[in-house]
Amino acid sequence: MTYDLVVIGGGSGGVRAARIAAGYGARVALVEEYRLGGTCVIRGCVPKKLMVYASRFAIEFDEARGYGWSVDAPRFNWETLVKNRDQEVDRLEQVYRGNLEKSGVQIYEGHARLVDANTIVINEQEKISAKTLLIATGARPVSDTRIPGHELCIDSNDFFKLTRQPKRVVVQGAGYIALELACVLQHLGSEVHLVYRSDLVLRGFDDELRHQLVEELKLSGMNLHHGQVITKVIKKPEGLEVSLGNGVSLHADIVLKAIGRQPNTENLGLQEAGIELNDQGAVAVNEWSQTNLPCVYAVGDVTNRVNLTPMAIREGHAFADNVFGGKAITVNHSLVPTAVFTTPELGTVGLTEEQALVSYPRLDVYKSSFRPLKATVSGHASRTFFKLLVNRDNDEIVGFHSIGPDTGEMSQLIGIALQMKATKAAFDATLAVHPTAAEELVTMRSPSIRHGL
Ligand code: NAP
Repeated sequence: MTYDLVVIGGGSGGVRAARIAAGYGARVALVEEYRLGGTCVIRGCVPKKLMVYASRFAIEFDEARGYGWSVDAPRFNWETLVKNRDQEVDRLEQVYRGNLEKSGVQIYEGHARLVDANTIVINEQEKISAKTLLIATGARPVSDTRIPGHELCIDSNDFFKLTRQPKRVVVQGAGYIALELACVLQHLGSEVHLVYRSDLVLRGFDDELRHQLVEELKLSGMNLHHGQVITKVIKKPEGLEVSLGNGVSLHADIVLKAIGRQPNTENLGLQEAGIELNDQGAVAVNEWSQTNLPCVYAVGDVTNRVNLTPMAIREGHAFADNVFGGKAITVNHSLVPTAVFTTPELGTVGLTEEQALVSYPRLDVYKSSFRPLKATVSGHASRTFFKLLVNRDNDEIVGFHSIGPDTGEMSQLIGIALQMKATKAAFDATLAVHPTAAEELVTMRSPSIRHGL
């Protein structure tokens, strides 16, 4: 069987590319060895966010008391959450399948391996040919096998298979995944120890935001072990004993390692077909997502550019537009709005203060830190923080950083403003919506810091 396009990988990037290409009239096949939907739908963003919602009820119950509600000893049932979460994931997987089928994409279930740049063998049995090939195989958790007892640890894929709530948890890492899952468990009532090797969490984010988040994590009762690594894990009758570099021993039911992800490039025949990988082991591509072989393209986490679902979708769409729609579209990998669904959550877009100062030394920093109105009556101690970075030379806003309820939603909208090169004057001219937290963004009158004066 010969297709115009064969996509390997049924995650966000691959599915979008397949559907758009089919919409242009291409004969398209997609090969997936696990489940349609990829990491995001099956064992990432979607089930994670459902668990974040579940965990935040703990705060809602607490706050409700200040508002006159009697909330006596609410109890949480992990099995119910997991059952309902998995039902929703199953439903979404069927939606993905249905959308591909409606678009006329032929789905193959099995493992794909390249025989050459135009031929694929599925499960080492069935061969199909492709004029164009798209690799969209995503990434998987890094497994560090160097410490004794590493086999006793779990990763984020295993986390979504837990059938019982672990009461005592050690989480290693301080990136998106470690922090989000640590917060879920903390607010669901587990005892959580977060072990990370640096001084601060979330490398690459605005430093002040990182400090604010650490304060919030402490406030939530999470145990933080900064500047530490796990050196050994031992199984004991009462659970796992986890040794840290400083000699401290922790006791846990599970040890969850979230120390990064690596591109899925193995066992695909990529190197045998002559496809180049970059020095991080990702498929090397140009601005058109094209590999060194002109008929082979790659999108999403397997290329290790900006490893976020919306970017994989954008890259997959642009690929299909270029190759099958005759539209010359490249993807802008800068100005990426993003949220980290810790509790409280972070929303950010644009440059960090540290990055902005490199390009715009005449930088005004506007900040606001306050207790949200809701907390004044509930007594919740968490604070909301906003920061706007303004290039004084042309008044353009070059960065937005926030922590607090709904800041992920805000980063999406502020992202539009920054995309339109909004000025501080435009923010100031925008009427406040009162009473909201976001109104602070249009009422920041004087900068807290004026760099380069
Ligand atoms: P990550 O953001 O790259 O963070 C990895 C963490 O592990 C860092 O704290 C890092 O520490 C630490 N680490 C790395 N190697 C280590 C080692 N050998 N020993 C101890 N610690 C080590 O990775 P992630 O959290 O696994 O997330 C992967 C990707 O998924 C991210 O790129 C993100 O884009 C995406 N994601 C996004 C969302 C979202 O949009 N909300 C949610 C989940 C995942 P250092 O900082 O010291 O290097």
